[in-house]
Amino acid sequence: MQLDQILQEALSAVAGAEDLASLDAVRVAYMGKKGKVTGLLKELGTLPADERPQAGQQINELKLKINLAIDERKLVLEQFAMQSKLSATSVDVTLPGRGINLGSMHPVTKIRFMLEDYFKGLGFSVVEGPEVEDDFHNFAALNIPEHHPARAMQDTFYFADGRVLRTHTSPVQIRSMRASKPPYRLIAPGRVYRCDSDVTHTPMFHQVEGLMIDENISMANLKAILTRFLQVLFEQPIKLRFRSSYFPFTEPSAEVDMQCTKCSGAGCRICKNTGWLEVLGCGMVHPKVLDNCNIDSEKYTGWAFGLGIDRLAMLRYNIPDLRMLFENDLRFISQF
Ligand SMILES: [Zn+2]
Repeated sequence: MQLDQILQEALSAVAGAEDLASLDAVRVAYMGKKGKVTGLLKELGTLPADERPQAGQQINELKLKINLAIDERKLVLEQFAMQSKLSATSVDVTLPGRGINLGSMHPVTKIRFMLEDYFKGLGFSVVEGPEVEDDFHNFAALNIPEHHPARAMQDTFYFADGRVLRTHTSPVQIRSMRASKPPYRLIAPGRVYRCDSDVTHTPMFHQVEGLMIDENISMANLKAILTRFLQVLFEQPIKLRFRSSYFPFTEPSAEVDMQCTKCSGAGCRICKNTGWLEVLGCGMVHPKVLDNCNIDSEKYTGWAFGLGIDRLAMLRYNIPDLRMLFENDLRFISQF
């Protein structure tokens, strides 16, 4: 009779538990060290010996029933707790992901890396030189003596001690030729400086110098290498046109035009209706420049070229204003 009462009380307490904490309190109240069922088991010893087996069996059955009820209620409450947790922190799995902002390479850097990859594949090495140069390496060794009109051609930034911000990457070829013996196969990419600023000129810009000196080197080597490079860069067949020109450090000298990549020579806004785009200056290295670097100009010949990396980037990516390359506007740069 007493056991039935305890069972009913326990079952209604279990059913009334609203959460896992109050359910645990019910479990302690009946099954804990001082719980009611535990108390009954302790009282077993006070019963006469012949009543003990039956009473023990009844109490164990009671214990089993209450434990079963607690376990069932626990499952229900755990599911309920999970449900309310999920609905409180709802996740819409159909929303698009946020993605990771990886950044992007500057167009000038991209062109420079393409150049380096291409020329390294032909056995050229990539060399660098100082941006603050002395008169000898920037001018004199390149056959531009003092009072030579070519110095006026390039509006130079001078330091008080007579040194300059290099006006081209050509001093790097002088440094390389004076530091080792021919043959040479090298390119020298880097920043150069001139007092100039408008839509197509900035005071700082990027150039790459190319130099190949060996026995039996001619302009034909240069034409083949440049044509292939521009075809790789623009991913289309490219025609080149060599126009005779003048540079103090090459003889003969040429300016190189490539057929307009937009109109294929028909004439458009980009090429100012000429069908051609000027891309670089080049020539056979002047014997005086070789002499200045203690190279036997009777035995060795070779070519050099200087190419504007920024201009190539503008043509390759259809960038209308050179200054956009240096304004560091992320909306612009992140397109590449
Ligand atoms: Zn065109």
